[in-house]
Amino acid sequence: MEKQGVRLQGVGVGQGLALGPVIRMPDPLPEPADVPPSLDAEAEKARASAALATTAALIRHRGERAGGTAKDVLDSQAAMVEDPTLSDDVAARIDAGKSAERAVFEGFATFRDLLVGMGGYLAERATDLDDISQRVRATLSGLPMPGVPESERPFVLFAHDLAPADTALLDLDKVIALVTAEGGPTSHTAILAREKSIVAIVGASGAMDVADDSVVIVDAAAGIVTVSPTPEEIAAVQSELESRAGEVPIPLAPGALADGTPIPLLANLGSAEGAREAIEHGAEGVGLFRTEFLFLDATTAPTVAEQQEHYTKLLSAFPGRKVVVRMLDAGADKPLSFMNVAPEENPALGLRGLRALRANEQILRDQLTALANADAASEADLWVMAPMVSTVEETRYFTRLAREAGLKTAGVMVEVPSSALLADRILADADFASIGTNDLTQYTLAADRLLGSVAAFQDPWHPAVLRLVGEVGRAGAALGKPVGICGEAAADPLLAVILVGLGATSLSMSPSALVGVRAELRRFTLAQAHEFAQLALSANSANEARAAVLEASSALQHTNPTEKVE
Ligand code: PEP
Ligand code: MG
Repeated sequence: MEKQGVRLQGVGVGQGLALGPVIRMPDPLPEPADVPPSLDAEAEKARASAALATTAALIRHRGERAGGTAKDVLDSQAAMVEDPTLSDDVAARIDAGKSAERAVFEGFATFRDLLVGMGGYLAERATDLDDISQRVRATLSGLPMPGVPESERPFVLFAHDLAPADTALLDLDKVIALVTAEGGPTSHTAILAREKSIVAIVGASGAMDVADDSVVIVDAAAGIVTVSPTPEEIAAVQSELESRAGEVPIPLAPGALADGTPIPLLANLGSAEGAREAIEHGAEGVGLFRTEFLFLDATTAPTVAEQQEHYTKLLSAFPGRKVVVRMLDAGADKPLSFMNVAPEENPALGLRGLRALRANEQILRDQLTALANADAASEADLWVMAPMVSTVEETRYFTRLAREAGLKTAGVMVEVPSSALLADRILADADFASIGTNDLTQYTLAADRLLGSVAAFQDPWHPAVLRLVGEVGRAGAALGKPVGICGEAAADPLLAVILVGLGATSLSMSPSALVGVRAELRRFTLAQAHEFAQLALSANSANEARAAVLEASSALQHTNPTEKVE
């Protein structure tokens, strides 16, 4: 694998480019063999207690560096490692003839089962114990720590995949790019990478065969990782990186087509901290605020006061602007331990989104209350919406609760084919629809958005997906209700034009994608967008649709190059 110029193909996230050495995320440690130890019991006990103390200190140190809520979580993990009941249990197992590794493994597993048996909050801590057990055993055996590696120098992180919490906590001064073997273009790893402007390629099979410290070029626009590049390739990338750093920014303007039709361009955000960058990129508001990203690490439901603080901060950044906040979308790829309790065989088809909120109605009501309070304290135009709505009845349920809480604009996300097919009836009850093309594509093509092996199916250019978008667009136009797009499809400039041609009235995306989409919209009129949409709809596949529209749009560009909006 380390031969010069080996290339791995994956799915690029955005247009970034990076060059640097690889550090791989270590694989989880296997279960230690249950064989007699080579040292005597006293020596094994000394090893175990030293490893427990070192691990606790390392966890506390990570907490100090991370700060905020991460520090609280890590401090409580360190306290678990220092629990004397646990060290006594480990010592007793060593006295009974186990090695330190095996005693730690069994001791933690027993505590884990105990917590699971107690249910509720304590059961939610079970995965923490698994993680700590791995860390203590890695310390004992001198192996790399599980989880995101730490390094003093910048590196390209290679991983099978990352949990959303790992991606959210990445140290961006050190991780200059991310390459995963798993994950599709709309996996949350990809979405968070885009939101944080991390150069990333997902679904690059073979990534885990690349050795640590190999130098790689990560070219997200091409979706290619070049392992051990030639000196010429390195020089070319370095000069490209220098010229990108010196680029003059394009002036910002509201989103509009060439004929002046306004198409507001909004930002997808996962925290209020992203607001400044969104405004700098010319976002006219927020089209999707993913509230669950605020609480991925939380083990108990967030309080009204805690949420209100986050939402007030967000709304205050957009006075007079539209801000669409999505209720907690828990489940499948974004499990929240305080909501998704029962294990499910097919979590994407399980109790997720609005279904999970409904099963925890007080959490939903608290979130609506926090939003209503934040709304009253700010000047933004707050809209709220429910994720994963699949029936008319669910639409009525959510809009009723939102209105009871005093929220004036309540809509639903269309992410399930059933909602798109019944959009006329759903929009009769909802104030607006926002199409989540990531899940809509996953469910239409029956392809898990997290699975690299089916990433090719996760293509929103597919005419089946576009036909469903068209259903919602038609219903919105007939009823005079707004239809936004907030899935990653809106970030693809040419596809954005098609989505407008299918009836989308606003587009929301990661801030870094706004510039490209703004420029593309200005190249075409609404009539041309309709024309392209028809072309895409009549194709047999995503690739055919893309090729047909690309050809038609390039032909138009040559015959009609001067049309533009002032
Ligand atoms: C979507 O499914 O398109 C969407 C915007 O929601 P998420 O990606 O957070 O599931
Ligand atoms: Mg979704």
